[in-house]
Amino acid sequence: MIEENFTDLGINDELAAILKTKGFEHPTPIQKQTIPLILDGKDLIGQAETGSGKTAACAIPLVQQVDKSINDIQTLILTPTRELALQYLDEVSSFGTPYGVTPFVIYGGFNKGIHLAKLRSGVQILVATPGRLIDIIYNHYLTLENLKTMVIDEADEMLKIGFIEDVDFIKSCIVQKHQTLLFSATMPPPIKRLAGKYMKDAVHIKLNVDQSGPSSLTHYVIHTDSRAKDRQLSMLLAQKEIAQAIVFCNTRTRVKSLYKSLQDKFSGADYLHGGMEQNLRTRIMDKFRAKKIKFIITTDVMARGIDVRSVSHIINYDFPKTSESYVHRTGRTARLGKEGTAISLITRSDKEILKEVSEKYGINPVAFPGSDAQAGDSGSRQRRASGGSAEGRGPRPRRDYPRKTQRTQ
Ligand code: AMP
Repeated sequence: MIEENFTDLGINDELAAILKTKGFEHPTPIQKQTIPLILDGKDLIGQAETGSGKTAACAIPLVQQVDKSINDIQTLILTPTRELALQYLDEVSSFGTPYGVTPFVIYGGFNKGIHLAKLRSGVQILVATPGRLIDIIYNHYLTLENLKTMVIDEADEMLKIGFIEDVDFIKSCIVQKHQTLLFSATMPPPIKRLAGKYMKDAVHIKLNVDQSGPSSLTHYVIHTDSRAKDRQLSMLLAQKEIAQAIVFCNTRTRVKSLYKSLQDKFSGADYLHGGMEQNLRTRIMDKFRAKKIKFIITTDVMARGIDVRSVSHIINYDFPKTSESYVHRTGRTARLGKEGTAISLITRSDKEILKEVSEKYGINPVAFPGSDAQAGDSGSRQRRASGGSAEGRGPRPRRDYPRKTQRTQ
């Protein structure tokens, strides 16, 4: 069978050649669906998770659509977090800059003077978090009169962190006819209303039909209690199989205290949370991407969209408070067909959410090899665990998990 190329989808030879140098030879299934529609000027609602080439599915046609002779913002991409904004910029720049278009990113917490200077020098694709953008629009530093396309990424996350009114406001500032692309993993009523208000005849596509995530992702649980968590985590982090791991905690305070207790044992550990100064967050993400950090301890700030392909393990030191968060956290590994492992430390109070993970997403984690047999409570060995034989995964943890449970939070 002959595989499709980007040129078959309407991407020009110059951009396709640049994509090839970046290792993008064939479009992913998502890209096959969206690229022709976007080039055709259609409004689009994509129910999508990242990890399947979603960013490029949008960014490739948007780069091609830029009129290089107009030195003004033609595409606006809104993302809920700074990390996602920076990641989006990286992807757009990697082929947009050699193609000759100028992308830029603005977000809160960074020097506004530098943002303004760059905006004045001419930016064609702007990636932004809503707060800083509104600040700049309010102060008349920016007009969007040449804007042709607006992308609202991770709309449900915007809603969750209270940005949806800001998005609504920004949208209302664009008076001319333009194309809108809205991406959201779920479609709660406020997002539907927003879409209904601004998008006419949008094509609705489900980009990732299997919500349970890739089959190359293996889900494990270890039933435990809060006193045993640190010891179990140390054992897990000592596994040779780990290329890079993200360790999730539920609060910033817990991130810091866990880091303190681990920093002497594991030299490649660091931490990141939303309360840290932005420059530091960016530096830590850069180090993580460059593999200078092996274990990153974090909150849900890293749960959405973050794409670091060498992440082999997700460890839920604290089990998430929602089943959606579980899916997002574990989606940071097993990206683009790679193998990945998710291991969750479960206390009694987490069992409800674990059940919801199974009922809503069909994910049934199995007991981590060698851990307490009661882990089988959470579900039998099923399809989700078939990514590798349990025995093949790391050393067998000692059978000394305390059975007495106690509440962690
Ligand atoms: P995303 O779903 O946007 O987070 O993308 C996941 C990863 O896939 C990113 O590292 C992209 O650079 C990469 N990627 C996207 N499209 C392709 C493609 N057609 N070929 C190879 N890699 C790709």
